[in-house]
Amino acid sequence: MPVNNRIAETHSEMQAWRRDLHQHPELCFEERRTAAIVAEKLRSWGIEVHEGIGVTGVVGVLKGQGTSPRTIGIRADMDALPMQEENDFDHKSTIDGKMHACGHDGHTAILLGTAKYLSETRNFDGTVHFIFQPAEEGGGGGDAMVKDGLFERFPCDGVYGLHNQPGMPRGTFNVRTGPIMASADTAEMKITGKGGHAAYPHLTNDPIAAGVQLYTALQTIVARNVGPVENAVVSVTQFQAGTGINIIPQEAKLAVSIRAMTAQIRDQIEARVKEICAGVAATHGVEIDLDYQRRYPSVVNHEKETQIVARAATEVVGHENVNMETPIRMGSEDFAFMLEACPGCYFFLGTNDETHFQAVHHPEFDFNDEVLSIGASIWARLVEQQLPRQ
Ligand SMILES: [Zn+2]
Ligand SMILES: [Zn+2]
Repeated sequence: MPVNNRIAETHSEMQAWRRDLHQHPELCFEERRTAAIVAEKLRSWGIEVHEGIGVTGVVGVLKGQGTSPRTIGIRADMDALPMQEENDFDHKSTIDGKMHACGHDGHTAILLGTAKYLSETRNFDGTVHFIFQPAEEGGGGGDAMVKDGLFERFPCDGVYGLHNQPGMPRGTFNVRTGPIMASADTAEMKITGKGGHAAYPHLTNDPIAAGVQLYTALQTIVARNVGPVENAVVSVTQFQAGTGINIIPQEAKLAVSIRAMTAQIRDQIEARVKEICAGVAATHGVEIDLDYQRRYPSVVNHEKETQIVARAATEVVGHENVNMETPIRMGSEDFAFMLEACPGCYFFLGTNDETHFQAVHHPEFDFNDEVLSIGASIWARLVEQQLPRQ
C-alpha cells in the first residue's frame, strides 16, 4: 500500500498521541484536555487555531503556497463513551466509567498527523480547515459547531469525515454516493387512561391495552407504509406500566427509536406515528401525549465529493480496496449536520485484523494503530489533489 513515506515516519508519534488520548477519555462537550492538546500541537506547527467553537470544538487553519481561494474542511471527532474499559494493556483508560470505545482517539490522531505533515510540506495551494469536533456520541457536537458559525467563519468547498470500521479488513475503504447512514429520531408516548381494580376492568380505560395496540400498530409503519425496497427501522425499546398484580394502572409509557434512509421517509414515519397515536387514543378512550424528537438527520454523501474521496483512497490503498457501493448503515452519525450545511463525503476505513476485531462500543475495543498512517495519507492525498499548486 503506497502510504505516504513521510507520514509513515511519524507513525510512532501518532501512535503515542492516540494512546495518550485513549488513556484520558472525555465525554460529550467535556473534551477540554483533548481540545487543549489539539490546539497546542496545531500551534506548535504554525497553524492558526480557533478554540471554543461548539463549546469544546477546535479549528486549525493552514494556508498552502500560492493565492488560491479554494478551501477544504477535514473533520475528526474527539469524544469518548460512558462505559468501563475491559482491556488490560498499558494504554487502557485511566478513568473509571469512560472509554474511547469508538476510535475517536484514532480519528483525532490521524487528523493531527495530517496537520503536521501538511504544515511541514505545504505542497498545496489553498486553505485547509482542520475541524476537531466534540460530542459525536449523542451530543450533537457537529450541529453545535455548525450553529456556532463553523462554515461562515471557515468556509469549505467540501467537508470530509472518516470513521474506523472493525467489520472491514484493515486498509480498505467503503463509501457510497447518497445516503450512507440513517437519521435517528426518538418518540416517547405517555398513555393516560383510567386506573382501577383488576377485577372490574369495565370501570377503567386500560392504558396497557392501548399500549399493546400502539406497539402493534407501530410495526405496520415499516411493514405497510414505507416502500419495500427503502430502508427504515421503528424499534419500540421501552414499555413501562403497572405497579401491582391486581391494579390496572393509570399510565403506560413507550419509547421508540426511529431510523430512516432519506428525509422523505423520515417525514413519512413522523406523520404515521402521529396518526397512529391519535387513532389508538380515540379507539381506547385514553390520552396519548407524544414527544417526538428529531435528532440526527441521515448522512447523505454528495456525488462529486464522493468521487474525490474515492480518487484519493484509490491512490493510497489501490482500486481493489475501495468499495464504492457499500450498503447503507442504519446507525447514525452527527457529521450529517455538516453535510446538510456543506457538500462533502463521509466514509469508512477498515481496521480489522487478527488482533483488532471487536466492534465499536465493545468494552474490549481498541483503535487499530496500523491504520493511522493510511488515514493520514488519504487526507494528505485528498488535499494535494484538490488544492494543487499552480
Ligand atoms: Zn460511537
Ligand atoms: Zn464513532
